[in-house]
Amino acid sequence: MDLPDIAPGTVWLVGAGPGDPGLITAYAAHGLAHAEVIVYDALVDSQILSLANPDAEMVFAGKRGGRPSANQDDISQRLVALAQAGRRVLRIKGGDPCVFGRGGEEALALAQAGIPFRLVPGITVGIGGLAYAGIPATHRDTNAAITFITGHTAGGDVPKNLDWTALSKGSPTLVLYMALGHLECIADLLVTAGRNPQESVAIITNATMPSQRTLFTTLEAAAGAAKAAAMMPPALVVIGENVAFHDRLEWFQAIGDSD
Ligand code: SAH
Repeated sequence: MDLPDIAPGTVWLVGAGPGDPGLITAYAAHGLAHAEVIVYDALVDSQILSLANPDAEMVFAGKRGGRPSANQDDISQRLVALAQAGRRVLRIKGGDPCVFGRGGEEALALAQAGIPFRLVPGITVGIGGLAYAGIPATHRDTNAAITFITGHTAGGDVPKNLDWTALSKGSPTLVLYMALGHLECIADLLVTAGRNPQESVAIITNATMPSQRTLFTTLEAAAGAAKAAAMMPPALVVIGENVAFHDRLEWFQAIGDSD
């Protein structure tokens, strides 16, 4: 495969996929192997980072020890400064960089500064996590649409600018990122808006990794069940009748190569 290199003074904004190192793209592996500076987030697995050029400067830009994330403007400006210094820069984030990953904000800062960049998509956890839980993202018998939603605003609240009634009525499958802390509130909003309280729900933590755990429950029971099972972030919540296929399609734990 003949892939381009990261040119000096250029930034690649790369998705690392949902966790399993086997799910990264050839572009991500190639970029890691020859970048001079790698700016990475907390959700990028150490096995993926071990593909990095051993001489690369590694810059951590995620949450550490419960402290808030590095300031987004600071990260963007750092990428700009590294590129302006002529470095070959790889910015890597979990999943897809532009799905609840602020990749768009970083790309805009680069564009504004006139820095050339490449966007390398990754498998978002809303796709990869479903596959590893045995849930078809769409299925003709259950859902002709799927919606990715954040359960959490930058300020930490349930997003109020979302029309939960419209989502409840309009999308047969809802995939919620960052929603574990607000699950009770979100389930109430959906049931109040007419969603079936008995609808199937999956909660998937550490999706695609050896430590993946899945909890299958119903909309009305989900928040309590998640607490009782001590489900911890990072967690994905899937609400929809396609979830029910997991009883026939779950393969990841079954094939036993997950460690
Ligand atoms: N850009 C990422 C999402 C970043 S937002 C992507 O495209 O996948 C971070 C949220 O994603 C977490 O709070 C959690 O809800 C979800 N998430 C990321 N990785 C996960 C994983 N391995 N298992 C379950 N949820 C995950």
